Amino acid sequence: MNKPLPNNALTDNLRKAQQHLARFKSAVVAHRIAGENVLSQDAFDNFDPSDNSVLCRVSSGTPADVDRAARAAEEAFKVWKDVPGEKRRALLHTIANKIEARADEIALVESTDSGQAIRYMSKAALRGAENFRFYADKGPEASDGLSMPTQTHLNYTVRQPIGPVGVITPWNTPFMLSTWKIAPALAAGCTIVHKPAEWSPLSAVILSEIMSEVFEGAGLPKGIVNLVHGFGESAGKALTEHPAIKAIAFVGESITGSHIMAQGAPTLKRVHFELGGKNPVFVFDDADLDRALDAVLFMIYSLNGQRCTSSSRALVQRSIYDKFTAELKARVEKIKVGHPLDPATELGPLIHPRHAEKVLSYSQHARQEGAQVATGGVRALEGKGNFVCPTLFTDAKNSMRIAQEEIFGPVLTAIPFEDEADALRIANDVRYGLAAYIWTGNVGRAHRVAQGVEAGMVWINSENVRHLPTPFGGVKSSGIGRDGGDYAFEIYMEQKNIAVGLDRHRAPKIGV
Ligand code: NAD
Repeated sequence: MNKPLPNNALTDNLRKAQQHLARFKSAVVAHRIAGENVLSQDAFDNFDPSDNSVLCRVSSGTPADVDRAARAAEEAFKVWKDVPGEKRRALLHTIANKIEARADEIALVESTDSGQAIRYMSKAALRGAENFRFYADKGPEASDGLSMPTQTHLNYTVRQPIGPVGVITPWNTPFMLSTWKIAPALAAGCTIVHKPAEWSPLSAVILSEIMSEVFEGAGLPKGIVNLVHGFGESAGKALTEHPAIKAIAFVGESITGSHIMAQGAPTLKRVHFELGGKNPVFVFDDADLDRALDAVLFMIYSLNGQRCTSSSRALVQRSIYDKFTAELKARVEKIKVGHPLDPATELGPLIHPRHAEKVLSYSQHARQEGAQVATGGVRALEGKGNFVCPTLFTDAKNSMRIAQEEIFGPVLTAIPFEDEADALRIANDVRYGLAAYIWTGNVGRAHRVAQGVEAGMVWINSENVRHLPTPFGGVKSSGIGRDGGDYAFEIYMEQKNIAVGLDRHRAPKIGV
């Protein structure tokens, strides 16, 4: 047998991806509303980030489409809210089984659609299935409350699903993020209208097919899950304004969160926001520098740097700053940029030409403000795709735009600090507060910094590893509310208190 050529895996993945994409290419991608494929009058182009060719055309949802979907979710809620927890548990596990069965297809479609390298996307579907399994098992206990007895009354609480929920997701890791919202909402007893991002809408179609198959197969109403494609300003806005939608679970930019809050105000929408970040990774001079280096690289250059928890600011103690950044630079220059379906690729194309332009513009800002572009800052693989070189800015100050703004690309800003107090001051001097990473060999310092840093999540001597029962979310402009564990039910469920008189208390008589 001949030894396989190195690019055989890419050719093979391209062929398989084309097979899975053929159906999206052959007809306009439809919404799925109450179990029906629905087309809008208008459609938009969806592009392949590796060459910006048109991958397919997608229906552009209108307020009328959203209304139809919200009404279907409202109708289905009447049944789904009362489906026993054990049955919900079984159905969500069936969804997880079906996701696992289609994991390769989901990975290939998502990687092509989003530009994220297949080496990371190959696990996206499995992570999505895990989310469904975790919340499947929480389904039976979702309505449990507390007992709070007094001398005169037995007070007890129950949790009840809030109603139809709007789920609005971004383009960076769309499948996993959608399951993160949809699985707990379904486990709680809510019904769904999902509006995926217009730049990577395809894996949402597969998820919607899987869920519809399961619910329809069980003889349940067809509107439990609905999918409406389209732009934020039209379909997304209509969803946030719809009176039948009781809560919005949103993942995206902080500014969009503000818009959604305003749009949802007239209907007093409950909101759950996972927003942007400018996350610090502290590297103290007593850290295990080898491990810190690996983690710093992984947390900004994997997933194209298009990851909310990416550590985009490296705060490095002055005494090791030059050595550490020199090693960083050498490693960054070895990162392999390439086609997202090539298993050797570490950095794929960014999602859209506009986004690539935005990311590249920061090199200009870096130079203008006096930082060094140590490496990168330019396009990679000259061609039609949105490829950019992994970029490292050094000698930056925290007041610079490269340290304050979320770039959301493979771009790291390295800033020196003097001591612990200086490090914390720099870390907290941004509007965001999603995640922080601390590398130090000093246990006391690790805990002091963890408590002092303004962030919803802190990892000490670790990169981002997600444990599903723990709370996930940010403070300041990085979010409102928490995903994960029981925390997610705080958005999808209402607390009700029931007070039962124990005949030891009587209301004072009036009117006698
Ligand atoms: P975005 O805010 O531009 O879009 C997100 C979604 O909101 C899309 O579906 C879009 O169509 C929709 N939308 C846009 N305007 C809307 C409006 N007025 N009303 C309703 N919906 C609207 O974000 P993006 O560029 O797709 O994603 C990148 C952002 O997502 C980054 O800021 C990143 O940090 C953030 N993100 C956060 C997390 C987290 O957990 N905190 C996770 C992933 C991504």
